[in-house]
Amino acid sequence: MFKHHDALQAAIARPLWHDPQIMPEPLPPLTGQEQCELLIVGGGFTGLWAAMQAKERKPDIDIIIIEQTFVADGASGRNGGFLSSSVAHGETNIEAQFPGEADELEELGTRNMKELLETLEKYNIDARYEKTGETSVALDPESAIRLHEEYRELQSEGRDVVWFDKDAMREQANSPTFFGGCWNRGGQDGVIDPARLCLGLKDVLVNQLGVRLYEGTRMLDVKPAGKDGMRAACEEGSVVSEKVLLATNAYTSSIGRIRRSVIPVWDYQIATEPLTDAQLDKISWGKPESRHALGDFSNMFHYFRLTRDNRITWGGGGAVRYYFNRGIDMKFMDAPQRYEQLATEFFDMFPQLEGDVKFSHKWGGIIASSTRFCVVPGVLYNGRLAWAVGYTGLGVGASRFGARIGIELLGYQPSNIIKMKFVTGRALPWVPEPLCWVGVRLTQKALIRADKNGGKRGLWLRFLDLLGLGFTC
Ligand SMILES: Cc1cc2nc3c(=O)[nH]c(=O)nc-3n(C[C@H](O)[C@H](O)[C@H](O)COP(=O)(O)OP(=O)(O)OC[C@H]3O[C@@H](n4cnc5c(N)ncnc54)[C@H](O)[C@@H]3O)c2cc1C
Repeated sequence: MFKHHDALQAAIARPLWHDPQIMPEPLPPLTGQEQCELLIVGGGFTGLWAAMQAKERKPDIDIIIIEQTFVADGASGRNGGFLSSSVAHGETNIEAQFPGEADELEELGTRNMKELLETLEKYNIDARYEKTGETSVALDPESAIRLHEEYRELQSEGRDVVWFDKDAMREQANSPTFFGGCWNRGGQDGVIDPARLCLGLKDVLVNQLGVRLYEGTRMLDVKPAGKDGMRAACEEGSVVSEKVLLATNAYTSSIGRIRRSVIPVWDYQIATEPLTDAQLDKISWGKPESRHALGDFSNMFHYFRLTRDNRITWGGGGAVRYYFNRGIDMKFMDAPQRYEQLATEFFDMFPQLEGDVKFSHKWGGIIASSTRFCVVPGVLYNGRLAWAVGYTGLGVGASRFGARIGIELLGYQPSNIIKMKFVTGRALPWVPEPLCWVGVRLTQKALIRADKNGGKRGLWLRFLDLLGLGFTC
């Protein structure tokens, strides 16, 4: 029997964030024919932030949002809640993919974060934001040396970073696997409750800003209609609009360019029951001044954090999966082996909690991975249809920026941002199956090997690096 069977036995298969006490009844679906100026497809962060920013730019704009299930059912209600100011999957990726625009992207990310938090304050949205910064932990002595080099580099750039050697790190959060840590505490990075953020935005859009939102409404197809409009066909009705924004993440799309840009990668998480003070003491984590949001410094990294009621949410690691043929099937949520793997990796890191702590929730979600590891925007039909998809695991904050690009591409107060290579450059398409599946599996195995090898990248990863396709964290 699986070693940690008891710890997982009572875990509910539902995202922790989908607390029945806060989840509202879904709004009724769209039936018949509707008209509006801007149709947004997808009720995740991208769609909701797009509506919010379009309203800021043009208060009298008439917007409809359609969501195939319910708001927060996609990645936006299933993620780890790490809110990062990076809009392009971190500095390493920005340097590799957009070297000429690195400074500008960093500045835009900082501004995006500031505006995001201001919006929450303005509308009194309690997304349980906690400014924790981000702390990387090294899991072996070699990684600690590399992490320390990274710390020195950040320090030389004037960043507000703190280095913890092995003992100091274990005082902040204690695992026998920790060999050092780097706490990047500058800026506004932190953690949130993602479903509360989605639901807060939904409430403001619908009840204060007059946006019409239909849940349980799947768009089947979207096409130009006449000279100036678009027509989106849904299961029980249709919408004719001047413009359409597709905020559909990695879900199957009728637009070929979107289909080729993103693949759905499944990421799984488990969450513990609230930890008692005694349990927190065992791992020295959770003191008011050290509620670090943690990620291990490796390719196949885990990300783990405390919630307001002192649960630990735990995701990533070896449980991340790409299933053959890009299928999106919620049956992949039911993945006992993935949860067992996560539980095993959890107790490997915190053996002090073995036999003492149980998991209350387990769930999976879809990461839209692009070959540039960050948002892929696009526009068609003379600026009448745009999209922003593909955040690759770092979209909680970046989706607001992706949404901004989307609406600017549709002509709502366009700025110089849409002239940046970041927006105009095309992402390489994913190769067809079975090559794609083989390539992803090879890469995953090579990343695991590199982690075991003190971060040394083998031939395959170096080849991908040469093509600009090398995943780094
Ligand atoms: C397990 C997991 C952990 C993650 N952790 C983090 C993290 O800690 N930090 C971070 O920054 N990022 C994280 N991410 C990534 C982040 O959650 C996403 O990048 C972000 O939520 C994307 O938002 P979105 O609105 O574009 O997509 P989604 O939230 O997936 O929204 C897309 C919506 O479109 C709807 N839709 C699709 N097709 C149609 C259609 N035809 N008709 C109508 N509706 C449709 C879907 O139902 C869905 O609700 C994580 C992702 C996962 C899965």
